[in-house]
Amino acid sequence: MYQIFLLDIDNTLLDFDAAEEQGFIKMIQSYDLEFHDEMLSQYKKMNRHLWDLLEQEKIGREELLNTRFHEFFRLYDMEINGEEAEGRYRGHLGNNSDLIPGAKEALIQLKQMGKQLYTASNGVYSTQIQRLKNAGIFHLFEGMFISEKVGYEKPSLYFFQHCFNHIPNFEKEKTIMVGDSISSDIQGAVNAGIDSCLFIRSLEPMPTAATHTIHDITELLNF
Ligand SMILES: [Mg+2]
Repeated sequence: MYQIFLLDIDNTLLDFDAAEEQGFIKMIQSYDLEFHDEMLSQYKKMNRHLWDLLEQEKIGREELLNTRFHEFFRLYDMEINGEEAEGRYRGHLGNNSDLIPGAKEALIQLKQMGKQLYTASNGVYSTQIQRLKNAGIFHLFEGMFISEKVGYEKPSLYFFQHCFNHIPNFEKEKTIMVGDSISSDIQGAVNAGIDSCLFIRSLEPMPTAATHTIHDITELLNF
């Protein structure tokens, strides 16, 4: 039985896909650019590439956040200030806190079972805190590990060592990392030598190094 739960936030507890889409559309429209569906997939592809580079420590966080929209608007022959666009997007993103179905109930029950819950997220601290508060789940956590504050991104071993150093009565064997990303959550757990649980909403089987795989977040109650 696990006692300490390190929980990813985006697409594990909160529906990041929905937040991203709504925030992106509102930001695009604020520049008087008409939104088309393919814009979102173009942006997601560019953004994913930048996040891969960040996870591989090839670029920095500021560089990612300040250039992604500048690069995107260039596709439409528009020169905009990337930092300002990021600010507009983030404002909308922070306002969205749609929960993954069952996530709140699962967290409440785990807490009642006496489990220690911590967030373990690659993200911007203020945005993540605001979204957790809006979703009504902020108070359920003992602590927040968010990469911007930690100084390292998952899957870096340093990210996890920071978590371990700040958890009272930490025991590796009783700790599990839960998340939807193989490259950051599961690989991070492997790097740190702890068990992991991959949460994937689709039922397609996927080869993974995860200790467990679940398709419904409430399955965490079995741990
Ligand atoms: Mg995630």
